[in-house]
Amino acid sequence: MAHPLHAYLALLDDLRVAGFHCHPIRDYFMAQRAGQGTATEPADSHTPCAYLRHDVDRMPARAVAMAEAEAERGIRSTYYFRCDARMRFPEAAMRRIADLGHETGFHYESLSRTRGDRAAAIERFARELAACRAIVPVTTVSPHGAPLAASSNMDFTASIAPESVNLLGDATDMDYSDMLYVTDTGGTFGSPHNLRDWPAGRCLTRPVPPARLMGWITLQTITQVTLSCHPERWPADYLSLLHASLRDAAANAAKKFLIASQSRIISAD
Ligand SMILES: [Zn+2]
Repeated sequence: MAHPLHAYLALLDDLRVAGFHCHPIRDYFMAQRAGQGTATEPADSHTPCAYLRHDVDRMPARAVAMAEAEAERGIRSTYYFRCDARMRFPEAAMRRIADLGHETGFHYESLSRTRGDRAAAIERFARELAACRAIVPVTTVSPHGAPLAASSNMDFTASIAPESVNLLGDATDMDYSDMLYVTDTGGTFGSPHNLRDWPAGRCLTRPVPPARLMGWITLQTITQVTLSCHPERWPADYLSLLHASLRDAAANAAKKFLIASQSRIISAD
């Protein structure tokens, strides 16, 4: 499933009307270092805060469209970019989004690319991160879910000290004991097809349409939210919306087939 870009922008408007201030992910880690509030709020502020994360898996042009629409509203968020197997990034989109004032980061899949070889993955991660930094500044990173790969990237950077590679942190290392994590992984918010994108802590566990998400968040009486939206799932035109929905349906069917195959293998053991 996918949603029109205007539905995402309406959700941002809902968040702001509800009093939430929108921030890129790096602000969370800077606040952690400072040991107080958010990096841009006073220490004793209880201002509700929404951290906006975008993993750019495919179609960087849709990330640019989303980034431009956010910037028009005076909102800055974080865009994480993947590279291909030859370490090539979507450079033009990255530079444009950085120029708009958004945070740019690296969306890694080093462990799934090295098929679980952790030592090779650490070396690969360092080279890919350097290639990303040759294009745009990077102070935070996020893992690519790679739901059909045997090795999960989700806990990869736990074995790397962020300071050793000049990083503030990994987006999966945010503390969700008092923060809500909402992602469109699997096709929509709270999708049952989300296999790996579940941090420990408070998550949305049932599907909620974008127009009703703010109402649901309000019911949680929580003042910190991380909202993760993949730009490819929020196109501006309806033909692309249909295409994105069909892509998600095919991906979810593949995940179901994989799970069914694995359970047959496990029961055969
Ligand atoms: Zn991804």
